[in-house]
Formats: sequence, C-alpha cells, structure tokens
Amino acid sequence: MAIPDEGVIDAHVHLYPPEVNADPVGWADRQGERLWREMVEERPDRRVRQGFVSVDRLLRDMDAAGVAHVILLGWYWERPETCELQNRFYAQCVRAHPDRISAFATVQASDGDRAVAEMRRARDAGLIGLGEMCPWAFGGRPTDEQWLPIFEQAVEMDWPVNLHVTDPASRAVPGRVETPLEDVLALAETLPELRLILAHLGGGLAFLEPGYRVHRALKDAIYDTAAVPLLYRRSGWQAAIKAAGAERVAFGTDYPLMVFPRTQVEPGLTESVALLREVCADAGVAGQVGGETIRRFLRRT
Ligand SMILES: [Zn+2]
Repeated sequence: MAIPDEGVIDAHVHLYPPEVNADPVGWADRQGERLWREMVEERPDRRVRQGFVSVDRLLRDMDAAGVAHVILLGWYWERPETCELQNRFYAQCVRAHPDRISAFATVQASDGDRAVAEMRRARDAGLIGLGEMCPWAFGGRPTDEQWLPIFEQAVEMDWPVNLHVTDPASRAVPGRVETPLEDVLALAETLPELRLILAHLGGGLAFLEPGYRVHRALKDAIYDTAAVPLLYRRSGWQAAIKAAGAERVAFGTDYPLMVFPRTQVEPGLTESVALLREVCADAGVAGQVGGETIRRFLRRT
C-alpha cells in the first residue's frame, strides 16, 4: 500500500473510464445502469452537477489543491459486469500512479459467488477495500441473505468497507436512496469486526455518537465528509468532530461532484481543502481530519 506518511488524503473520490465520461447517459442506457443514470443525468430540478474527469485531470486538481493522495470508490452498480469494468479501470489507475491513488472495489451481491471471486481478483490487482456500497439501492439491506455474505467476506479479507448513508432528515434530491440508520447499526452489531467507513458523516450518525448504542456499535468505525457542504452548515463539521472525535472523521469530497453549487463552475478540490482548513483550524485538527484518520484506519495503527 502506498498511502503517504504525510499530506492531505481525500478518502472519497469517484472516477469513470473514458468511454463513460464521453457519454454518461448513452453509456448508462447501453450498459443497463438505470439507477446511476438517474443520479448523473442533467435535469432541471438538479441543483448539484456531476463532473466527469480523466485521471490526468484528477492529478492536476490534486496538485492545485495540495492533495497528496486519493481513495477512489466504486459505485453501486446494478450489474456485475459494470462492477468488474470499474474495478479493472481502478486497478489500471493504481498501477499507473501508486503514490497518488488507492482504490476500493465494488461488487453486486445478486450473484454472490461471482462477487466473492471478484473481490479476490480485485485484491490481487491491488485494490484495498470495498465501496461505496449501498444495498438499499437494490431493495436490499446490509444484513439480508444476499448482502451479509459480502460483508462477511470483507471481514475475512480484512478489507475496509465504505458504506453510503443518507441522512433521513436531509432534503429530497433526484436519485436519493433511503438508508435506515437502524440498518447501519444492525450491520455493525452483526459484524463487529467489519471495518466500516460511513460516508457523508454516516447520514448524521456521527452527531448521534454520544448515544450509548450508537457509540458501542460504531466505536471502531470512521466517518467521511463526502458531500457534507451540500448537506450541513459549517457547524456540522465541528459537531461531528466534537461528537465522534477528530480521530474518527476523515476528509472526503465526492469529487468530481460539484459540492459548492453556488460558486463552483467546474470540478475541483481547492474549495473543499480550503473549507477543511477553515473548519478544523480552531480545534487544530486539520492534519488529523485531513489525512491522519484515514491513514491510521487503513494502516491499522
Ligand atoms: Zn455516497
């Protein structure tokens, strides 16, 4: 693993192969990925735009913002073929830029044996975790008979899992998937050894950390800050850091999603890094949230 000893790490980035970037909606139609199409197509009621960038563009944006390393996350694809396509693309990215890029794999649990075989193949190809996973997107739950074996396999492989979690109290947006917080707790309680990264501040679970049950279930989990500027006021960062501890909050952006819709005209990382520094400055935890949390979580130190 080539996670650097120092510098900012973005723990939540999505990239797609060039053929997807060239025509996302047409590709989604041909590929049979209806859910993803709904998430990315331009529509009048969509305030937040998805960007599509190349690996080289990502590297330039990292340089411009002072981001040392990123973790690429897969998508919750409907078809195993699409998962495998993305995993192969990510393996290429990691091979080409091991010092700048790490990647998690994605699988579809509808064909369990195929998914487990793909996880092993992805590990051999250099991928280091599973995510971003969202069983609810397919009408499933993390602890049902389709998905639990996938998470058990992650435990067996000692792979961290990034789980998408939606705040039940957040506004309705196109493509929003409900992810009951009870299901997240049930997963953590069923598999206490599962190394969970809960995306988007765990859909607000980070704020509930003072609760006995939440803390007991999630004490070994960490939260990422992907898309948080869209979901919470700046005080949300401080609230999460206060409730869960800076050592359990990891900087993530959801790049190339444009998470500052009022000011952002193209994908980039500079605004996110500036916000990280600003909101963490008072508590002196920018280094912790900006890199140390994910570094220690992935290295198990
Ligand atoms: Zn997500």
